[in-house]
Parts: sequence; structure tokens; C-alpha cells
Amino acid sequence: MRIFKEVSSLKNYLQQQKNAGKKIGFVPTMGSLHQGHLALLNQSIPDNDITLCSIFVNPTQFNKPKDYELYPRNSKEDLAILEEKNCDAVFIPDEDTIYPQKSLIQFDLGYLDQIMEGLHRPGHFKGVVLVVIKLLNLILPENAYFGLKDLQQFTIIKKTVEELFLPVNIIGVNTVREENGLALSSRNKRLDNQQKEIGLTLFKSLQLGKENLMRGESVNKMKESVVEYCGKQDGFDLEYFEIVNRETLMPIQQISEHNSIALCIAGNVGDVRLIDNFIIDL
Ligand code: AMP
Repeated sequence: MRIFKEVSSLKNYLQQQKNAGKKIGFVPTMGSLHQGHLALLNQSIPDNDITLCSIFVNPTQFNKPKDYELYPRNSKEDLAILEEKNCDAVFIPDEDTIYPQKSLIQFDLGYLDQIMEGLHRPGHFKGVVLVVIKLLNLILPENAYFGLKDLQQFTIIKKTVEELFLPVNIIGVNTVREENGLALSSRNKRLDNQQKEIGLTLFKSLQLGKENLMRGESVNKMKESVVEYCGKQDGFDLEYFEIVNRETLMPIQQISEHNSIALCIAGNVGDVRLIDNFIIDL
């Protein structure tokens, strides 16, 4: 497995691969790899000639310095996992390599930055899009893989790439969960066993919401039941629960007018913030 820290050596390598007609698949991550990340690799490896994974804890997307500080980092273990997985190459840059100077560019993401994650994490998506567009421009892969667990991130990246005419296919990969339903996340490493139980509130809320909707309950009534359920879970602090159109992420009032919807939830267990969603095709 080739490991690159610098832009110039990475570019040389990619140019050689492209000259040889190789198709590049790209999997961007912040490291601390788990089965969720590996699901992205599992899709990229058979679909492309070369799979490149990046590991970079992007400082510009953390709206709380403490969260950035406490974000789990484990590059040695990550590299061993990627090697074992037969990943072809890894880009693991320093902060100065990605941001040699304070960035002049800022993306205005409109309404998509003013709902759900955008509303509760001001500036988060500006940082995400900045780093993803930098990486995509640098690498220019054929395909880039993102988890649908971060549905709003996926939607924003897909729309931004389309608007900028970037010649990259953005591919969404289904959420990987523990057997009990808890969505895998690098942040789960900061939860003890009791907190993991409490973290299941997200999954259970999504299940409750889906069941109630499928039974014909109205959107408003269903939301009330879920909020009430969350309120009863000791140690869980709900940030939002929304029901949105899957493509636009705009909140909806009635499901009958939509082909595909998503239930989206975020909450805190102690000082660990967790998100999850269910995508429901109607
Ligand atoms: P992160 O390292 O948290 O920035 O995640 C890197 C990529 O892995 C993103 O595209 C995430 O959406 C994706 N990802 C994280 N957790 C999961 C999961 N449980 N299932 C599928 N994809 C995931």
C-alpha cells in the first residue's frame, strides 16, 4: 500500500495511474476507521482499479474546539486496517498541506446549511465542503464514496459537485450498524457501555417514527410521539428530529406527496453528539 503525505508525490502517483488507464475510486475519512468506513472501501475496491483512502481530521468543520481536540485519532491502527483491506493508496496529509494559508474561499450553501445539522453546527458544512472540494479537485477520481449516515453531508456534496461541474460520481453507501441498531461512528469510541445503550435512543426513535407513519399516523402526531419518547430517556438530550424529502431535505407535512423521505435525528449522550437517519422509499 502506498502512503502519501505530500500533494506533489500523490499527484505524480495519480497521474501515472491515470496515464495507464486506471480508474480511481476515492474514500475520504477522518480516520479512526470502523466497519462503516470499510463499507465504503468494499464498494470502491471492486468498482475501481485503484482505491485511494484519505485520513484527515479536518479542523475547519469542527464548530467546537473541544470536539476537534477530543476527536479520536489512531493513524497507526488505521493504516494497518487499510493494508489488511488491500486498499491501494492512502493520503494522510498534515494540516499545513491541506491549508497552507487561511482559506480565501467560503461556500454559501443556502438553505441546506440552515436546517438540521447546519442549524445546530454553524459553519460545519462550510468546512466539510471546503475540504471535500479541495480533495476532489486534487485527486479527480472517477468515483467518490460517502456514507448515507451523514445524509445532509452527502446531499450537500452531491449538489455542490453537480453545480461546479466536477467530473466525479458521488456514490452514497448505506449505513452500517451494530447488531442492536446503533449506527457505527468514530464518536462511539467515546461512549461507555451504559452510554451506548442510551445512544440506541436514536435508532429506537427512528423505528418508532417509521412504524407510526406506516400505521397512517400524521407527520405532526408522529413527531410528537418521538419527541415524547426521547424526553423519557434518561441521559439523552434530543437536538432535533425531522421528517424531510429525501432529495431536497426540506421538512414535509404529509408523506403522500413524496416518493422518498428521510427521518433524521441528532442528540447528545453526555458530551458526545450522535446522528442517524432512516431513508424510506414510499
Ligand atoms: P468520517 O470519518 O466520520 O468523516 O466518515 C467518513 C465517511 O464514512 C463519511 O462518508 C461517512 O458518512 C462514512 N460513514 C461513517 N459512519 C458510517 C456508517 N456507520 N455507515 C456507513 N458510512 C459511514
